[in-house]
Amino acid sequence: MGGMDKNIWVIANWKSNKTIAEALDWVSKVGSYIPKKENFKVVVCPTYSCISEVKKAIKVGNFPLLVGAQDLSPFKAGAYTGEESAVLLKDLIEFSILGHSERRKNFGETDEMVAQKVQQALANNIIALVCVQGEETLIPEQCSLIAYEPIWAISTGLTNTPGAGKADNPENAEIVAKFFKQKYGNNLEVIYGGSVSSANAKGFVSQPNINGILIGNASLDPGEFIAICKSCLE
Ligand code: PEP
Repeated sequence: MGGMDKNIWVIANWKSNKTIAEALDWVSKVGSYIPKKENFKVVVCPTYSCISEVKKAIKVGNFPLLVGAQDLSPFKAGAYTGEESAVLLKDLIEFSILGHSERRKNFGETDEMVAQKVQQALANNIIALVCVQGEETLIPEQCSLIAYEPIWAISTGLTNTPGAGKADNPENAEIVAKFFKQKYGNNLEVIYGGSVSSANAKGFVSQPNINGILIGNASLDPGEFIAICKSCLE
């Protein structure tokens, strides 16, 4: 992967994990490792409660890390109790994960809501990563980055733990990525997510039509996350 002729996204989705102290520890350990390479885009998506502190720590350390939210409100700012709107977050984040299967399943998110969230993100210069669960998932207009995340592959455990880990295989993920590019155009970037670890990351990013990985469980441990980044650059 030495010359790197394509973007490689390595995205940490912490889900509902980490105190502020744990988040800052992670940033200090991971931040100083990440190489400054134009096409190598590393993103950390903390909980809302940590975003501001994480952003500050990245700025102070001058680390090449982008900050993302794990969701955004489909609405502008206003009378929407509990919502986090893009217009209020835009000074803190560059990136957002939208339409994650856990949000679709546990919070009733529909394709229509995901499309509204994408609009809010893009209107506020926030990159929108839309999670798609299979070839049938609708991709909102203007969306240029998606994560193929088969539901059965999410959070099955680390693939380097014996007996655990049910990631899709890289060859199948490549077929799905190709399908989406043929349907929506070559400008669409497709990444893979679902039980990625340092043991299998390289297999995904080596596929010609896969532009990176979205990592949940394995992103929580700074050492494992660094190992994933390293394997992507080999
Ligand atoms: C995810 O939730 O987006 C994800 C990929 O999780 P995990 O890596 O734990 O399967």
